[in-house]
Amino acid sequence: MVVQPDRAAWLQRNGTCCDNPAHSSTRECRIVLLGPPAVGKGTQATLLASFFQSCHLSTGELFRRAQQCDPAGLTPAMHTAVRKMEAGELVDDTTVIRLLLDRGRCIACHGGFLLAGLPRTIGQAATLDVLLARDDLKIDYAIEYQLPHANLLERAAGRRICPSCSAVYHRNHRPPQNAGICDQCAVELVRRADDMGATLQKRLQTYATNTACLRSYYFGQGKLVNVDARGTPDEVFARTITVLSEFLK
Ligand code: AMP
Repeated sequence: MVVQPDRAAWLQRNGTCCDNPAHSSTRECRIVLLGPPAVGKGTQATLLASFFQSCHLSTGELFRRAQQCDPAGLTPAMHTAVRKMEAGELVDDTTVIRLLLDRGRCIACHGGFLLAGLPRTIGQAATLDVLLARDDLKIDYAIEYQLPHANLLERAAGRRICPSCSAVYHRNHRPPQNAGICDQCAVELVRRADDMGATLQKRLQTYATNTACLRSYYFGQGKLVNVDARGTPDEVFARTITVLSEFLK
């Protein structure tokens, strides 16, 4: 059984240990993944993190984890963050940047990282750059996955997640071995509430209005890599590696 690394632990509390093994990787890479909701950023981040032997960090997972916690244990900022997520809106920059600043050491960690869903605004991207620059580091690539609107709706409709280990499946494109059950922990898979109806529409709209400007931010830095996200996860992964090697030439 493959044990999923805890992709939210790095942000959860001071002193959380990194469960990634020590790296001797010569491909140390810091990559952010851009693209609309349900394009497959999380799935590709898992595959790329394994390829580059780096950490896969996800703010979305952190907020989903907070949603499952006893509300009495959440800070007021985290309460608001969960409410925003449930409405399909972005969590305030102040909260996200606070989390980032608190965990500067994780961001500067040797071995690199894959960030899926972070940054989502120019403010977050600029903070990330400042944090990395303190250690003479930088983002190497911003990979933007592109998919027609109809395919995004189909991916969101079929996406299922494990509420226990956060593994991501798709009814048609990445089905579990036993229908509706997580391969790794045998827990029943669920749909993300924000993958449905008006909340999904809101997220798609939010991406178009807020997050798409990150494209020009990273293009201006010469780091933007576009990848066609049609096809199976393995096909998209292979395409990503091909495009990255072209970029490296
Ligand atoms: P994701 O799992 O990346 O689709 O994120 C789920 C939800 O968490 C988003 O729709 C936002 O409400 C919130 N979220 C995750 N990451 C961020 C971020 N970097 N900035 C603002 N909101 C975020």
